[in-house]
Amino acid sequence: MSKSLSVQQYDVIVVGMGPAGASAAYALSLHGLSVLAFDKQTHPRYKVCGGGLSARIAKILPSDFFSIVEKTVRRVQFTYGPQHSFIIESPEPIAYMVMRQHFDHWLVDKARQAGTVIHENESVVEIRDVEDGVEVFTKLKCYRSHIVIGADGVMSVVAQQSFPGRSLRKIPALESEVLGDWVHPFQENPTALISLQAAQKGYGWIFPKRQGLSLGVGEFVKGAKRPKQSFRDFMSHEPMLAGMKIPVPLGYQIPIAAAQDYRKAWAGSLVRGKSMLVGDAGHLVDPLLGEGIYYAVRSGQLAAKSIAAMLSNPASCRLSDYEMMVDNEFGSEFRVAGRLGTIIYGLPRSVHRWAGQRFPGSYQRVLRRYCEVLQGTETYQSLWAKILQRLHWPFVQKM
Ligand SMILES: Cc1cc2nc3c(=O)[nH]c(=O)nc-3n(C[C@H](O)[C@H](O)[C@H](O)COP(=O)(O)OP(=O)(O)OC[C@H]3O[C@@H](n4cnc5c(N)ncnc54)[C@H](O)[C@@H]3O)c2cc1C
Repeated sequence: MSKSLSVQQYDVIVVGMGPAGASAAYALSLHGLSVLAFDKQTHPRYKVCGGGLSARIAKILPSDFFSIVEKTVRRVQFTYGPQHSFIIESPEPIAYMVMRQHFDHWLVDKARQAGTVIHENESVVEIRDVEDGVEVFTKLKCYRSHIVIGADGVMSVVAQQSFPGRSLRKIPALESEVLGDWVHPFQENPTALISLQAAQKGYGWIFPKRQGLSLGVGEFVKGAKRPKQSFRDFMSHEPMLAGMKIPVPLGYQIPIAAAQDYRKAWAGSLVRGKSMLVGDAGHLVDPLLGEGIYYAVRSGQLAAKSIAAMLSNPASCRLSDYEMMVDNEFGSEFRVAGRLGTIIYGLPRSVHRWAGQRFPGSYQRVLRRYCEVLQGTETYQSLWAKILQRLHWPFVQKM
């Protein structure tokens, strides 16, 4: 389409208003930029997701975030079958539980209140780089901006069109919600359960919510058995779910960050031309746990920061600074998380049963430190260094 006066120009167009897009749009609008955002659905909308947020997310969200928290988890049960169970408790929150329709809607409202123009129920179908910006086509119209942010999730149209040939790993996951008028012990004393036995090369989870439980399985390593079978086995063998009628789960993919893809540099993987990728569209998901919401919010904020810097100071700032920011904050963390995932999901029985039985004290300490990673007082890198130190491996410094 040729440039015409009827095409309205914005500083930034955001495609997708999940946590990544809504956070980016909110931050850009607070910077005083003109922002147009699209979502193919209308919020509040259901999203297949466990809705578990690591507690460190509270540091990067607006302070009224607690109004949409369903349960605050200070107790995590790690199990490999009923006989092999460890419970970690902390006086400080380890995780917050939300329902995604409420969490995402709350973030979208923040962006709207800050000045973002939001078109819901309008899918973006095509992106074209033009001389002084980008043309974004929906089924209805063409729009123009200086920059486009792809925040359109795992099946991102922006990634497919602006980053051709990009093929990164996605893992299958299943999720169901059990609602009822009963009160489950995990709701009474808010507890999250992580079962390494639930999936052959992944884990199963039970997360407490205000009106029930969210349950699911994810398979993190190649060659796992089909997740449907894992889900059925988990539901029928997990004692904490005994006697419950579990609705048929919904499936979706998780685009985990594969350590090897980012080993050298992130150059060109998140910024090309005038297009940037955030959240799931950029495969910014922790490869150990499949946690994506924290990284979606944070990458949206980092993208906004680099755009605001570039537009106000084009001589010394570039869009690709965003890739450096992401690498600095997440790169090494994802590399270590990927390594831990390969060990834990490659040999779950040995790791949990053997280490748990032979070295229960040390094993419990590692699990506690892992909860501290979720709380933001440890990092994967410091956790890994401590594990290697205990094993007396001298090449700790290289990690
Ligand atoms: C079963 C399962 C359980 C999970 N559990 C957790 C968990 O407990 N904790 C956690 O941290 N992470 C979890 N995740 C991962 C988490 O859901 C994602 O990482 C997170 O949603 C990423 O946010 P996002 O904003 O990048 O993308 P999304 O949340 O997918 O949002 C993308 C948005 O873009 C819109 N969109 C898509 N295409 C277009 C288009 N062409 N035009 C306009 N709009 C479009 C969509 O409607 C959507 O609103 C889970 C994932 C799965 C599959």
